[in-house]
Amino acid sequence: MIPTISSLQKRDLNHVWHPCSQMKDYEDFPPIVIKSGKGIYLYDENGKQYIDAISSWWVNLFGHANERISTALANQAFQLEHVIFANFTHEPGIFLAEKLVEVTPDGLTKVFFADNGSSAIEVALKMSFQYHMQKNKPQKKRFLALTDAYHGETLGALSVGGVGLYNEVFQPLLLDTVRAQGPDCFRCPFNERPDSCCTQCMSYVEEKFKTHHEELTAIIIEPLIQAAAGMKMYPPTYLKKLKELCLQYDVHLIADEVAVGFGRTGTMFACEQAGITPDFMCLSKGLTGGYLPLSAVLTTDDVYDAFYDDYETMKAFLHSHSYTGNPLACRVALEVLHIFEDEHYIDEIHVKSTYMKELASKRFDHHPYVGEYRQTGMVGAIELVKNKETKEPFPSGERIGYKIYQIALKKGLLLRPLGNILYFMPPYVITKEEIKMVIDTTNEAIEEYFEHDHACMKVHEYE
Ligand SMILES: *Cc1c(COP(=O)(O)O)cnc(C)c1O
Repeated sequence: MIPTISSLQKRDLNHVWHPCSQMKDYEDFPPIVIKSGKGIYLYDENGKQYIDAISSWWVNLFGHANERISTALANQAFQLEHVIFANFTHEPGIFLAEKLVEVTPDGLTKVFFADNGSSAIEVALKMSFQYHMQKNKPQKKRFLALTDAYHGETLGALSVGGVGLYNEVFQPLLLDTVRAQGPDCFRCPFNERPDSCCTQCMSYVEEKFKTHHEELTAIIIEPLIQAAAGMKMYPPTYLKKLKELCLQYDVHLIADEVAVGFGRTGTMFACEQAGITPDFMCLSKGLTGGYLPLSAVLTTDDVYDAFYDDYETMKAFLHSHSYTGNPLACRVALEVLHIFEDEHYIDEIHVKSTYMKELASKRFDHHPYVGEYRQTGMVGAIELVKNKETKEPFPSGERIGYKIYQIALKKGLLLRPLGNILYFMPPYVITKEEIKMVIDTTNEAIEEYFEHDHACMKVHEYE
């Protein structure tokens, strides 16, 4: 069926190349033109309302067109929009750095700004490498990363990523990363139960430390949730043990909290749950509450001091982006941190996530096609499987997630599944009633798919 297409949609398709999309798919599924947003809702050009259950690609925290953030942004725009950040500075940048040091784990004392998550990863990788060079350990030039890791899509970030979908074609261009099998709690190779887990899978990483530590500069991980891989969750003990290995083998720990930072896992930062301080913590996405591109890399005095010397020694970290420390973005991020503080959002997240977990577990645990409903903080994920007993996945060619996504959109719910995994990562301003609505609508969309589309497909298979 050829969809009717609006003039704006037609003009979009004439010139816009959208991210992470096969543009041919847009022929029968044109882009939805969003005119405005308020709270957890988005409104398209026809006035149709959508619940943004994925926080617009994991960035929004306190709703769209948030009163406090918009006001702070507007005021800042009339005062100072941007200034070079080398040799110059400004209040939003200073105040934000102070606040970030205050709210992140102890020991992270220095803040380097960049303007997106991938760039923050590049900064951390480069800093770690240069640190070891300047500590007379030039042989330390490889990174260790986990299977199913996602750290962004610039070439350095892709090099440490482990999701084939994104980096396979680019393999010939990428760094020679050491790869260790990461945790896989749903399909645990040791058949451990989450509540009594002894993290036997640490042995995979430990092995790589033993073999490669002399050439390793850093290990990079996504604490508690490997998000892009399909919201794969693992316990804090894993992080705790990883930190010990890093100390033992003189390898930096880079915590990529781009997706999980700012309350998503139930604590302000995921590392808190393991009681660890990484050598580098990368932040973006929620940092500006979904308003503007900004990222920050926090690090320690030890790292900072290895670069601090007379100019002639050429030890400086010569990395910059034109928009480094943009005052608008910094002012907005500062407002986000004030909102966390003033409105006690971590407590709020606790109450809402407990409710979400109870309700979603009740709805999905016994569903014949749900292998698992899992949740950490305000991130909930439904893993659809072909066979509940064997956990056999649906073939990716069936594009189940994509089809359920389309059904849900018709019902006014924006999900954006990762393969066969549907997930919720709503803005924190969502109410209990709205949480229930998201779960009910998701359930309906799943039911509709399996009753109708999936059944039709089966008929085709036998024809
Ligand atoms: C999104 C993401 C990135 C990349 O951030 P961008 O701003 O999209 O470049 C890096 N790491 C993780 C864990 C992410 O989820």
